[in-house]
Amino acid sequence: MEKSYEYIVSACLCGENCRYDGKSTLSERVKRLVDEGKAITVCPEVEGGLPIPRHPCEIRGNRVVNSHNEDKTEEFISGAEKVLELVKKHNIKKAILKEKSPSCGSSFIYDGTFSRKLIKGQGITTKLLRENGIEVISDEEFDEFGEFGDGSF
Ligand code: SF4
Repeated sequence: MEKSYEYIVSACLCGENCRYDGKSTLSERVKRLVDEGKAITVCPEVEGGLPIPRHPCEIRGNRVVNSHNEDKTEEFISGAEKVLELVKKHNIKKAILKEKSPSCGSSFIYDGTFSRKLIKGQGITTKLLRENGIEVISDEEFDEFGEFGDGSF
């Protein structure tokens, strides 16, 4: 039987250089969950077959496009499906994902014009996880709420 984990978290929050620009956005607090054996990391865009580095992508309507106007919807959906498989395999119920990402955002995303304008919305992976009953919060919410303590968000 596969090992169970409490959380799945965005890999870039744990120091993995998987962002579009080849960098990470380390959150010590999120990484600690991995170090303690409570969480596993994943990068949906890499799972979907996108390279590092890559052109940044944004959601535009029901498609995902990169800054060169190439359609990357298929890769984003494939990545989200792989994350869902991983979540099911490890019996995970909660996710902490990077805010503003077209994959991982949970409250805000960019508006699809590549002008750094944020709108309310969620990423492709976040949407699929929520549709499957997984609770998703952002790194920003996790930092704000502090320690889990009681095991809840
Ligand atoms: S897809 Fe998610 S995990 Fe991967 S770099 Fe973007 S925000 Fe981080």
